[in-house]
Amino acid sequence: MEDCLGQKWKQRQFDLASVSDLSVALPSPSPGIARFDTDGLKIYQQSHQIPFSVDPRTVQLYKLSPVQSVCVVEGSDVCKKTLYSRGVTIQFRNEEDSAAFHCVVQQWKKEVNPQGENGPNGTLTTSKSKFDEKIESSSAKMYFHYYGQLLHQQNMLQDYIRTGTYHAAVIENRSDFIGRVVVDVGAGSGILSLFAAQAGAKHVYAVEASDMAEYARKLVAGNPMLAQRITVIKGKVEDVELPEKADILISEPMGTLLVNERMLESYVIARDRFLAPTGKMFPALGRIHMAPFTDEYLFMEIANKALFWQQQNYYGVDLTPLHGTAYQGYFSQPVVDAFDPRLLIAPSIFHVIDFTKIKEEELYEIDIPLRFIASVGTRVHGLACWFDVLFNGSTVQRWLSTAPGSPTTHWYQLRCVLSQPIYVMAGQEITGRLHLIAHNAQSYTIYLTLSVKMWGPGSEQGGILQTSSCKLDLKEPYYRMSQPQAYALAQDQQCQPFVPSQDFDEPEIVQQHSSNSCVQIDSVMQNI
Ligand code: SAH
Repeated sequence: MEDCLGQKWKQRQFDLASVSDLSVALPSPSPGIARFDTDGLKIYQQSHQIPFSVDPRTVQLYKLSPVQSVCVVEGSDVCKKTLYSRGVTIQFRNEEDSAAFHCVVQQWKKEVNPQGENGPNGTLTTSKSKFDEKIESSSAKMYFHYYGQLLHQQNMLQDYIRTGTYHAAVIENRSDFIGRVVVDVGAGSGILSLFAAQAGAKHVYAVEASDMAEYARKLVAGNPMLAQRITVIKGKVEDVELPEKADILISEPMGTLLVNERMLESYVIARDRFLAPTGKMFPALGRIHMAPFTDEYLFMEIANKALFWQQQNYYGVDLTPLHGTAYQGYFSQPVVDAFDPRLLIAPSIFHVIDFTKIKEEELYEIDIPLRFIASVGTRVHGLACWFDVLFNGSTVQRWLSTAPGSPTTHWYQLRCVLSQPIYVMAGQEITGRLHLIAHNAQSYTIYLTLSVKMWGPGSEQGGILQTSSCKLDLKEPYYRMSQPQAYALAQDQQCQPFVPSQDFDEPEIVQQHSSNSCVQIDSVMQNI
């Protein structure tokens, strides 16, 4: 990502598994390279010396698969009389290269043409909205269909920890809302707009892309004391125009692991489009918390799911050739459930995402180095993750937490389970990396690596590592609750009693280890 966002991208080169020229009657794919230099982007076929030159003002890039894309540019014939398009199909070596290439092209287009003005020949380079450019239309269709249904909005409204915390954060910080212009980013049923109006907002623009906008209008109209100060606008925050700048943005853009659904990007785009320079964001920041865990029972449950494929005589058919694939498939699903914090085997660490400062592109790839000290000798089965967000009000600071051991929310917690667990001794260091790469189905591919130094003979000499890695798709979680769940990620809500929002006694955000988790660990240790 650094390469993508910094200046280094200008010298970047990608080795391509294959390149084929679509303007040739019988394209013959062959390996090649894509090179960015000061002249622009050139795509070469190894077998062909003449490059395909790409003009940043007219280039259009389409993904055909996770590793294959089509790159189309405007061209003209030799007499420059006829306009036509030229295209190449490019196959990347892996998904990371593909994601990085798309990111670099986007950055390059932005740099060359920051306002998205018309290109040569009247080509509108940003004719597609920012959202449509990066999100597959089938994914967006399903996504907004889901949120267009009242029952799913109800699920969120019935998460009383969530909705109660938002209500308290708004009402207790009235001074931030009184007489102010507010934009509700992804308003859904309009509930947060109604809260903002209750807190005295001068006007609230409730922007909602799904058909839920119609219901929001109805709900707002049915609350006449507030209705005259709320305007519901149907559309994406990336596309709609508002008549004035906002003093406050309010939104609930969090998905599983904070970033799922990629709605944080829309929140940040709304900030750049609508928020006045001194404006506030509710919430202002989020933190992803992580800690290694042990859970033999969960591990066996997942491993056993693939046992079916170990049958050698299933109606006379040997199923074992697919056992390995099925086994890996089950371990590629992050597990969503509420677990006992006593399963954590080290104090948690966290990664901060500052919604007020982060650039949208920085959310395309999130790379988190991991370092823990094991509090107990055990088998490590993976990494447990949860998040919290901060409402940094002028009167009261309030956290909405989804931590294990805290009252359960509809997000529960998320665990990435290693297909090969690793062993640690108490006091040993666990290192690794959590690498999240956004994909165009509104979610992320998760790459997790955990390592510990080996104990026993030879370990002092070489620092031999036990390492275990896994790749998971955040879009395809395993919901391990008895109840049906919400948006694909989808989370149906357990019935919870109303718990008035409470102040979480949180540490300073600059601190690396969250103290409440340490306390939980201490109690684990006492119980073991
Ligand atoms: N604010 C409501 C709904 C939160 S769910 C509440 O707190 O109860 C997120 C909502 O944002 C969904 O209704 C979804 O349709 C909407 N949304 C997501 N991305 C959007 C975008 N880019 N533009 C407008 N609405 C969006």
